Amino acid sequence: MYDWLIVGAGFAGSVLAERLATQRGDRVLLIDRRPHIGGNAYDRYDEAGILFHQYGPHIFHTNSKQIFDYLSQFTAWRFYEHRVLAEVDGKRVPIPINLDTINSLYNLSLTSGEVEAFFAARAEHVDEVRTSEDVVVSKVGRELYEKFFRGYTRKQWGMDPSELDKSVAGRVPTRTNRDDRYFSDEYQFMPKHGYTRMFERMLSHPNIHVMTNTDFQDIRTVIPYRRLIFTGPIDEFFGFRFGKLPYRSLKFDHVTLDVEQHQPVAVINFPQTQAYTRVTEYKHLTGQVHPKTTLTYEFPRAEGDPYYPVPRPENQELYKKYEKLALATPNVWFVGRLATYRYYNMDQVVGQALATFRRISEHVPLRRGEAPRIEAAE
Ligand code: FAD
Ligand code: UDP
Repeated sequence: MYDWLIVGAGFAGSVLAERLATQRGDRVLLIDRRPHIGGNAYDRYDEAGILFHQYGPHIFHTNSKQIFDYLSQFTAWRFYEHRVLAEVDGKRVPIPINLDTINSLYNLSLTSGEVEAFFAARAEHVDEVRTSEDVVVSKVGRELYEKFFRGYTRKQWGMDPSELDKSVAGRVPTRTNRDDRYFSDEYQFMPKHGYTRMFERMLSHPNIHVMTNTDFQDIRTVIPYRRLIFTGPIDEFFGFRFGKLPYRSLKFDHVTLDVEQHQPVAVINFPQTQAYTRVTEYKHLTGQVHPKTTLTYEFPRAEGDPYYPVPRPENQELYKKYEKLALATPNVWFVGRLATYRYYNMDQVVGQALATFRRISEHVPLRRGEAPRIEAAE
């Protein structure tokens, strides 16, 4: 009998499998319904031999030394600071909006102090910043909001920024200096040999048994286990009994071109034109040298694999109902972006999984054989 059945081999499930096996000697069965480990961070070499991310660009960044050190046990790193250009009014300019963005877009030569005044003159007063529209117009005004945020957000989420929580557009800062990095975290690196290799090393332990192409539904009553960690969609776990939680999906078009380089930076965003939101060229992320290049175009969708929880108050309310059920379900832990319905980056999921491990260590006795087999849900 397994001590743990872990559903989902992404960051949440894999970190917990590793901790439980190596720190407690527990026996773990880790399953995923996809044909591979790594969850959405999965990468692989395509037919041309170029390393790409099957579920869109994943750039690791964190301010947590603890999280960085933890992952460093399983991978070496390649220093990489992410840079993105947005195609606006026919020009390619830095996003997050910074001093160079404004100077280039409006043919100006402002200084940092002057651009601060430029933003202040355009910023709209908002009594209480609640939405993704509020967060941008209150900083840079309506014109820049419309150029950079309104169209992109409507495409990405299928709704207006005024309908989304401020935390969504709030992910992208505004700068008055020339810093053109997408993230300002202390640790910004890519796993040197890719994410999948990192996951393989994390899961390579005699107490961890990995089964891919395996859906929880198909084995939940067949395979005996004592406790469960679930990292899939929480509404699905509970049979959608309060209704479906909305998740935003994407279609990824992966294309290999017979040229060495297609674009000057890893990602170009398209807030005003095109049906896709952004184009990623992986060689910038990986440093791979190759005569060809592989790109991914992201087309947002309502239906399909659940990639993004949709942060808005009514969805949070619905999630809270499921969370209440989760808290009342003994011996089952819900972890990760889908199971806790949070728009988390990879490092946040690793942090959440490590915190869950600490809670498990406090509450679950080390000794094996003490607990009866449990049913995951009624
Ligand atoms: P997931 O990776 O989604 O893993 C959950 C796994 O559970 C899946 O593999 C799924 O198949 C499996 N599963 C679900 N239900 C079942 C079931 N019933 N039975 C069996 N298996 C099941 N984060 C960053 O830090 N930087 C980035 O640049 C970045 N870019 C992103 C770009 C895109 C397009 C997306 C969608 C996300 C991005 N993220 C990024 C976020 C990152 O992907 C997540 O934070 C992280 O992968 C979440 O890990 P997880 O384990 O919670 O979930
Ligand atoms: N966003 C935008 N224009 C951009 C970049 C981002 O409007 O050029 C908004 C959009 O709503 C997006 C959110 O900011 O969903 C967060 O952007 P981020 O790049 O963090 O999205 P992710 O990489 O998670 O898809």
